Amino acid sequence: MSALLEISGVTAFYGHSQALFGVDLEVAEGEVVALMGRNGMGKTTTIHSVMRLVPHRAGAIRFAGQPLGGLAPHRAARLGLGLVPEGRRAFAGLSVEENLVAAARSGAWGLREIYALFPRLEERRGQDARSLSGGEQQMLVIGRALMTNPRLLILDEATEGLAPLIRQEIWGVIRRLKAETGLAILVVDKSLKEMSRAADRAVILEKGRVVWADAMGALTQELADRYLGV
Ligand code: ATP
Repeated sequence: MSALLEISGVTAFYGHSQALFGVDLEVAEGEVVALMGRNGMGKTTTIHSVMRLVPHRAGAIRFAGQPLGGLAPHRAARLGLGLVPEGRRAFAGLSVEENLVAAARSGAWGLREIYALFPRLEERRGQDARSLSGGEQQMLVIGRALMTNPRLLILDEATEGLAPLIRQEIWGVIRRLKAETGLAILVVDKSLKEMSRAADRAVILEKGRVVWADAMGALTQELADRYLGV
C-alpha cells in the first residue's frame, strides 16, 4: 500500500507554546488509522496541521504525493481531504438536502449514495438542519464531508456527546465505508472498543509526541492503561 497521507517531523505552536514535537504519521490508501491519546495531547492540532488550519513550523506533510506546506485550507481540502470537525456544524437556515448539495463535488458520492448510508437524512431532506437531533446533525456533517468526494476522511471526535445507539450507528457507517468503499480514514475518538473493531493501525500521542504506533491488534490493555487511561 502506498502512503496517501505522510506526516513527518511536524512541529506546531500556538504563539510561543509548542503543541507538536516532531509528529510522524502515515495513512495508506484504504487504511483506517486511529489517532489516540488523552485530552490535550495534540490530536486535534495534528489534524488541523494537515488541514492547514494550524501552520506547522518544521517537518513536512504530503497528501497524494503533494506537499501541503503553504497551501490555503480550502486548497488543501480540494485535494481530497474531507474533515468532520470536532463539534457539529451543519449550516443552519439550509435544509438537509441544501447542506449536502452545497458541499457537492463531482465523484462517486451524490445524494443517492448519502441517503443510502443515512436513510434518516432522506426522511428529513426538506427540514432545516437546525431542527435535527444531535445525532442526525452529525450524520449530516459526515454526509457533507463525503459529498466533497474525499480521498481521505478525517473524523475528529465524531461521536462525542451522542447517545449510545446513535454512536453505534455512526460506527456502523465507518465500518461500512471501510468495507464497501475502501475509503482511507483517520479517526479520533474516545472509544477504544469501537476503534479496535474499525481501525487497522493506531498512533498514540502523548504531549505532542508519538509514543506508540503499530497494528491496532498489538495495542494491549497494559498499553491502553498507560497511554489512554485517566
Ligand atoms: P482533546 O481531546 O482535548 O481535543 P487533543 O489531543 O486534540 O485533545 P489538542 O487540542 O491538539 O489536543 O491540544 C494540544 C495542546 O495544544 C494542548 O496543550 C492544548 O491546550 C493546546 N492548544 C490547543 N488549541 C489551542 C489554542 N487555540 N491556543 C492555545 N493552545 C492550544
